[in-house]
Amino acid sequence: MFGRGIPIAKLFGIRIEIDLSWLFVFALVSWTLADRVFPEEYPNWSEGTAWTVGIVAALLLFGTVLLHELAHALVAKARGLTVPKISLFIFGGVSHLGRQPSSAREEFSIAAAGPATSILIAGASIGIAFAASGRNEYLEAIFSYLGFVNGVLAAFNLLPGFPLDGGRVLRSIIWGRTRSFRRATEVASGVGVAFGYGLLFAGLGFILFGYLINGIWFAFIGWFLMSAARAEGQSVFLESVLARLRARDVMSTDFAVVPPGMSLAQVVDEYMVSGGHRAVVVALGDQVEGILTVSDVRRYPRAEWPHIPARQAMTPKERVITVDASTPAIQVLMLVGQNRLNQVPVLEDGRMVGLITRRELLDRVQLAGELAANGTAEANGPTRA
Ligand SMILES: [Zn+2]
Repeated sequence: MFGRGIPIAKLFGIRIEIDLSWLFVFALVSWTLADRVFPEEYPNWSEGTAWTVGIVAALLLFGTVLLHELAHALVAKARGLTVPKISLFIFGGVSHLGRQPSSAREEFSIAAAGPATSILIAGASIGIAFAASGRNEYLEAIFSYLGFVNGVLAAFNLLPGFPLDGGRVLRSIIWGRTRSFRRATEVASGVGVAFGYGLLFAGLGFILFGYLINGIWFAFIGWFLMSAARAEGQSVFLESVLARLRARDVMSTDFAVVPPGMSLAQVVDEYMVSGGHRAVVVALGDQVEGILTVSDVRRYPRAEWPHIPARQAMTPKERVITVDASTPAIQVLMLVGQNRLNQVPVLEDGRMVGLITRRELLDRVQLAGELAANGTAEANGPTRA
């Protein structure tokens, strides 16, 4: 259901995609209007008329959901965030922001822009429907429907649970009051999970009392809200833990340095097997020449190890990916993942000051997460990069 977006347009530099689930919702909305709603209210309409008006109303509904998302996206862009794409899916849409908001005020304006737009659309639609009443049945039918749905959309989105807009508004208010992004996220996702449970149980209640379809919808939306609120809480938490760590916080300073002329046999015996180093730095005095790893050594047959100097087998420094000591740990983590690196030398003022290994990096991140979970560390939210 998620992640299979069909690109349909590009507006203000933002890619607009519809999820496959939207085609299903579009068909369901058109059918409900053409086959159930309109025939009851306008019995004089032909089947063809009802379907035409139903499809037009469904298309306009799609347009208003897009306007809601565009409102979020344009406010975000005006505040300097990047918005690569908007996905429209079964419950509405998602604007993908390039990063988390950097202040409570920023989050509040981005989050509130969507529901505010839906309320405006609802008001305008009801006005048009009123004006068309008794003059044009088609306009009246379409706009009273748009007014109703946009009102419901605004109300649903304003429920104060994460990840709904109302949850973000709630988070921004708590964030502003407490100055703690993490605390605010915890509260807002907790409320989101509680709302999810509420809807889930309401749905089960409906099913027990015989309202099967409504019950399934409520339960499904509840379950969706609950898991989304949990996931959002966790990812923000991990991001806020990582945002505080730099390369120098996760590097090891007890890396081994060997001279360029040392034989592979000696490096293996003295550093790799007995020292437990999977990589050593090859340097002459202060001058780093490269890195010699276990996989570099394994390219040569064991019998040749005593005759091959480290310099010959090493990866020269020009081909080694390095990071600066002040690089955020989350960037190092991405670099390691993307390039499948086992180790990254850390430089400060051009001098090598440490080595980050993939295994140690993961251990450190996990440890930092455990400590933060105990309340030892406090994060104040991601900052503008
Ligand atoms: Zn929204």
